[in-house]
Amino acid sequence: MTVEYEVYALKYAHHERRASENFIGGAAGGDAHDGPMPLDYFVWLIRGGGREIVVDTGFSAAMARKRGRHHLRCPAQALGLLGVDASAVKDVVITHLHYDHVGNFELFPQATLHLQELEMRYATGRYMCSECFRGAFEAEDVAGVVRRVFDGRVRFHDGDAQIAPGVSVHLVGGHTMGLQVVRVGTRSGALVLASDASHFYANMEEARPFPIVWSVADMIDGYARLRDLAGGPGRIIPGHDPQVMARYPAPHSSLQGVVARLD
Ligand SMILES: [Zn+2]
Repeated sequence: MTVEYEVYALKYAHHERRASENFIGGAAGGDAHDGPMPLDYFVWLIRGGGREIVVDTGFSAAMARKRGRHHLRCPAQALGLLGVDASAVKDVVITHLHYDHVGNFELFPQATLHLQELEMRYATGRYMCSECFRGAFEAEDVAGVVRRVFDGRVRFHDGDAQIAPGVSVHLVGGHTMGLQVVRVGTRSGALVLASDASHFYANMEEARPFPIVWSVADMIDGYARLRDLAGGPGRIIPGHDPQVMARYPAPHSSLQGVVARLD
């Protein structure tokens, strides 16, 4: 019996910025198409077959103030709008350890965190000595996840792994050394939560990488990997594109602009 999962994107924060900040070389090239290109922040929910799997945990209002982002709601509270009790969730996939993806993980005390081995190596190793690589990491988040390892509640993956029937994680790298994406079986075929393997639709569609990057080559290869993993065009969900809320319907009119149903 194949499980067909429901998949949701939950928007919790926003950031106004220019298009030139979203592509390598965008500022230096004097891009004639530069203009506003805001960024949304999401966590995702996969639900079906008696399981609730949360993908990424977002950041707090305090972190939003520190980093000059516009915080709209606590991600755990957003999950509550779908009837999910964050404190009882058993499985959380952390796509990578950047502050906007792993902050708040304490709000999921029962959860096993699914993380790529390479991501922990990256976040605790020599490259964090360089500001250009550590800028989007918060030492407290990384240290907290290390403590979670000692509590026995981190499950490391090395490459591709199935975490539930019809739900798998896949190492892509690129943006960070150990970035993973999530593939989910749904009523309309396989859907891929790309997270920051592609921040916007435009990054993957035009093969123009986002400027926060560990390996440009891996990021470019990642766009092809996303297409291989997805069930068809339009089945790849970028990590930060406000278009997601426009392209997919809210599950209920009261959740318009907050939650989009992706399957
Ligand atoms: Zn991100």
